[in-house]
Amino acid sequence: MANYCSECGKELISPNAEICPNCGVRLKEIVINRRSPVIAAILSLFIWGLGQIYNGQFGKGIAYFVIGILCAASIMIFIGLLLAPIWWLIGIVDAYTSAKRINAGEDASKFINF
Ligand SMILES: [Zn+2]
Repeated sequence: MANYCSECGKELISPNAEICPNCGVRLKEIVINRRSPVIAAILSLFIWGLGQIYNGQFGKGIAYFVIGILCAASIMIFIGLLLAPIWWLIGIVDAYTSAKRINAGEDASKFINF
């Protein structure tokens, strides 16, 4: 099956070309930016912020991790027994929703996406 550039219509010799040799448009941009919401959620299930980092939101992932550690530390003063599971759930939901928004080309820059 022959592939054609969606921008200029020229036939592409290499089916895995990332850039059209004729007009220079990026061909794989949508594929490169795709995130699996399920993988993002599972990663956040194990480590705070990991799903956010997987989504390409590195700074946000670090912030989620730090807040997670603070929540875990506050278990010593009991409030963490409530905060830690809530923050854990927020991180999973945000990782899932952010991945879906990124895939749809929507804004996922909010700190918490529901
Ligand atoms: Zn082209």
